[in-house]
Amino acid sequence: MTDQFWMDKALQLASRAEQAGEVPVGAVIVKDGRLIAEGYNQMISLNDPSAHAEMQAVRQAGQYLQNYRLSDCTLYVTLEPCSMCAGMLVHSRLARLVFGASDYKTGAAGSIMNLVQHPQLNHQLEVTGGVMAEQCAASLSAFFQRRRREKKAAKQPAAKPAAGNATGGSGDPEVPDDPA
Ligand SMILES: [Zn+2]
Repeated sequence: MTDQFWMDKALQLASRAEQAGEVPVGAVIVKDGRLIAEGYNQMISLNDPSAHAEMQAVRQAGQYLQNYRLSDCTLYVTLEPCSMCAGMLVHSRLARLVFGASDYKTGAAGSIMNLVQHPQLNHQLEVTGGVMAEQCAASLSAFFQRRRREKKAAKQPAAKPAAGNATGGSGDPEVPDDPA
């Protein structure tokens, strides 16, 4: 199976997040050519700031393998991991990370830092970025454009000022070709 095949699965999970009102990010974990775990953003629905797609997938993979080490596994995620997830991926000893869109605001696999390949840490992942980047970025752009429209529409003349971005983490990435 190609990287595109698995990234497409991750994109399907991203749309599951979107249907639940979450920022659309999805992830799958593959070992020996088989899908062993999936995850998607569930921070809002679980009231859990750590419930990023990568985190959910890694937890499921650990349960599946009955092992806290995910050696020989590859994680596919539609958006570049944040620093929390990148650190967790190093702890998991994952072999390879494949991501779609870069996250220029919080990405920790090369954009603002590269935690997954930090020479002073005890494990470095093999990294491939930009797989189906356009599709991954497009799904995020569409989500944020729609949300901005909804916020605008909801604003009454005397409405209180916007409370700012409460999603955090990989919540509001500045995806390529996003005009905002
Ligand atoms: Zn994350």
